[in-house]
Amino acid sequence: MSSPYLSIVIPLFNEAESVPKLHEELAAALDALDVESEVIVVDDGSRDSSFAALQAVHERDPRWTILRFRRNHGQTTALSAGFEKARGEVVITLDADLQNDPQDIPRLLATLDEGYDIVSGWRRDRKEPFLTRRLPSMLANGLISRVTGVHLHDYGCTLKAYRNVVVKNIHLYGELHRFIPAVASQIGVQVTEIAVNDRPRRYGSSKYGISRTIRVLLDLITVRFILGYSTRPLQVFGGLGLLTGGLGVLIGLILSIEKLAFDVDIGNRPLLTLAVLLVIAGVQLISIGLVAEILVRSWHEMRDRPVYVMRDVLEREEVEDGET
Ligand code: UDP
Ligand code: MG
Repeated sequence: MSSPYLSIVIPLFNEAESVPKLHEELAAALDALDVESEVIVVDDGSRDSSFAALQAVHERDPRWTILRFRRNHGQTTALSAGFEKARGEVVITLDADLQNDPQDIPRLLATLDEGYDIVSGWRRDRKEPFLTRRLPSMLANGLISRVTGVHLHDYGCTLKAYRNVVVKNIHLYGELHRFIPAVASQIGVQVTEIAVNDRPRRYGSSKYGISRTIRVLLDLITVRFILGYSTRPLQVFGGLGLLTGGLGVLIGLILSIEKLAFDVDIGNRPLLTLAVLLVIAGVQLISIGLVAEILVRSWHEMRDRPVYVMRDVLEREEVEDGET
């Protein structure tokens, strides 16, 4: 069986009513493409009749592959199961609730062809309440862009297109899926965004509330750390440690000189406490850095794969005898 060019990956949790329409809309969009495609739906432990609905589609349409978790693991895990299964050169992710429009797929593909590795959807005209949805999302996107250095207007939009190399080289945990463009920047990727259609939810209800904003912010700390320091923790902790420790030693020295050379009483000086505190903090920070360094090393050794991903390799092949 030949591999399809395009894999559509869809995380789905309790969206039974949307399935028939999703199939219809996707089929229309995919049939209009001149590339082969597959659809991978990950049923994230739905408790309604979603699986039966998916099974019905699967029987009619051989393009549809259904994966079903035993329990609900969350959207990120569902996506990573889909990524694992995806065979396409290009992977497009899509929400199951029909809020994303399959008609945007050709434009995503065309933009990817201009030489990008990730094309992110940007719901320019969002059909959701301002105060509880759009405002927190605006603030979060601004912050994520600044902190990660990957500037996107809409991290939260599931409709995104990736080159296969991206999804096969990142590891998703917790709720990190929305940070894929930022996490992927680690291996070096060209990212862009295009405006996509956003539609109000027609069936079922949203799986998230406002508390998501806080979890996203915590995840951002993780991402920042992974991006900045995960291969060189000692440089960060050690740098800080040297700074505080050095300052502590300096203050201590000044105090000692005062005591020894000028016989000034230093027992009641707050600076003395500060000096001691700084030296202890410095030692602590450097030790944390060393421990982190060991952890990082064993992690990379264990994974047994390089921390880089090649873009191209230009290498002259051995010329066989007689060939000119
Ligand atoms: N989803 C999932 N597992 C979950 C929660 C959500 O697979 O635990 C799916 C859900 O079915 C939908 C997508 O993730 O296809 C986005 O969820 P939702 O529409 O509730 O989020 P919102 O659009 O409100 O941000
Ligand atoms: Mg939705």
